Amino acid sequence: MAEYDYDLIVIGAGPGGYVGAIRAAQLGLKTACVEGRDTLGGTCLNVGCIPSKALLHGSEKFEEAANGALARYGVKLGKVELDLAALQADKADAVKGLTGGIEFLFKKNKVDWLKGYGKFKDAHTVEVAGKAYTARNVVIATGSSVTPLPGVEVDNDKGIIVDSTGALALGKVPAHMVVIGGGVIGLELGSVWRRLGAKVTVVEFLDALLPGMDGDVRKEAAKIFKKQGMELKLGTKVTGASVKGKKATLTLEPAKGGASEVLEADCVLVSIGRRPNVDGLGLDAIGLELNARGQIETEHDFRTKVDGVWAIGDCIPGPMLAHKASDEGIAVAENIAGQTGIVNHDVIPGVVYTSPEFAGVGLTEEQAKERGEIKVGKFPMMANSRAKTNHEPDGFVKVIADAKTDKVLGVWAIASVAGTMIAEAALAMEFGATSEDIAYTCHAHPTHSEAMKEAAMGVMGKPIHI
Ligand code: FAD
Ligand code: NAD
Repeated sequence: MAEYDYDLIVIGAGPGGYVGAIRAAQLGLKTACVEGRDTLGGTCLNVGCIPSKALLHGSEKFEEAANGALARYGVKLGKVELDLAALQADKADAVKGLTGGIEFLFKKNKVDWLKGYGKFKDAHTVEVAGKAYTARNVVIATGSSVTPLPGVEVDNDKGIIVDSTGALALGKVPAHMVVIGGGVIGLELGSVWRRLGAKVTVVEFLDALLPGMDGDVRKEAAKIFKKQGMELKLGTKVTGASVKGKKATLTLEPAKGGASEVLEADCVLVSIGRRPNVDGLGLDAIGLELNARGQIETEHDFRTKVDGVWAIGDCIPGPMLAHKASDEGIAVAENIAGQTGIVNHDVIPGVVYTSPEFAGVGLTEEQAKERGEIKVGKFPMMANSRAKTNHEPDGFVKVIADAKTDKVLGVWAIASVAGTMIAEAALAMEFGATSEDIAYTCHAHPTHSEAMKEAAMGVMGKPIHI
């Protein structure tokens, strides 16, 4: 009889866990994946990346039709009406198709789905739905959940004070939505409901939106979202909330202290960050401690301090992004199978899928300056022929390179398709490219990506079109 039931048990079937489980099975490991949700795919596929992008795409189409933007192309429309139920059904369809697809991939790759929430009995034993399963190795990929804001209680069923999951499921467009937190979730979901007709006010504690992004990008973001009609209250904190009937009343204060004000809303979205899912996992049973931020620390190969226990994704340090979790899933499976799995955490792109999109990879200008002398090339989308033709003037591409070696240290882009454009920058950086390498690479015309080439040319001080 085998010493263990499985070579590997993965706890959590998000983009970290399910990808890791499939990769491990491909490498010949007998693998099971524990998941307590009714469907596979984790936060990302069920209540994150996918449903939010479905609503962003649909709401963008609605806004284009409703605000008359299509008229210049000769598309004449009568009265444009929103069928929110149809949009929500389209979202549900996308989620169902993709989560069902993972179930199919599990069967195809012979990954067993252990249904229920897993809890460690010891480092090699996980209890699921009252039954104990053993494995030589266990990967913790339990992801993250919304960080609560004391004094502002979320109740997704009532739909008045909601988190991202509630904001993805609203059955009616709120007249006034207040978003607490001007980060990725607040701006993406705030954009959805603004496009569908809500007045949206964003309350952000810091003096700029989108923490973690390049300073220029953050400044430009505030201008763009204001121009689109969002009200921004930067440097402001929410100190409390109450709900009466169908309305919420929020009290706000300047972050640095001062006179408070009151704001009424039909819907409040709490989006102030996410924290690792570790409660109830039985980490004390295996002696695994958390760091000060409640995360599981790992070595570079994703092993924890406990022999045979590994961790990946949102529950470990680093950006909380699906593609980061998936790359770690592949790497941890390869390491467990005796290969060498590596993730280059210096080159993880991040994208905000609003319109325009905001994207970046590598160091911000501020971070790069702290490390040494740099050169920066910047090219406005207004001077890019394709963006200009498509009436998409907002944004720029910025390439940051080491002043001595010309090695690309970071790239930032605001453009309608910045999320797609940033892949080129990530690949260039992964290959150790210089700005000259990008500048002398032939880019197809007319594409938005030519702005990347021109920004790279700008590092040497010689763009053509400005
Ligand atoms: P998760 O996806 O959170 O999956 C963990 C899974 O583990 C969950 O299904 C959970 O049920 C399960 N689990 C937890 N504990 C246990 C247990 N004890 N036993 C069994 N199962 C357990 N990222 C992007 O890169 N791009 C985007 O566009 C994007 N959009 C987002 C939009 C929203 C609204 C949100 C909330 C997040 C978004 N993210 C996006 C972030 C992305 O969803 C996460 O970074 C990603 O899902 C993390 O993957 P993970 O595998 O670490 O964890
Ligand atoms: P975030 O960290 O992006 O933004 C939270 C914002 O809330 C910050 O700007 C912070 O300063 C602000 N804040 C914190 N406390 C506050 C308070 N009391 N009052 C007012 N503002 C306050 O977090 P998020 O938007 O909740 O997203 C969570 C995670 O999900 C992120 O790490 C992100 O990577 C991931 N995500 C990614 C995408 C994407 O890749 N497109 C989309 C959605 C979510």
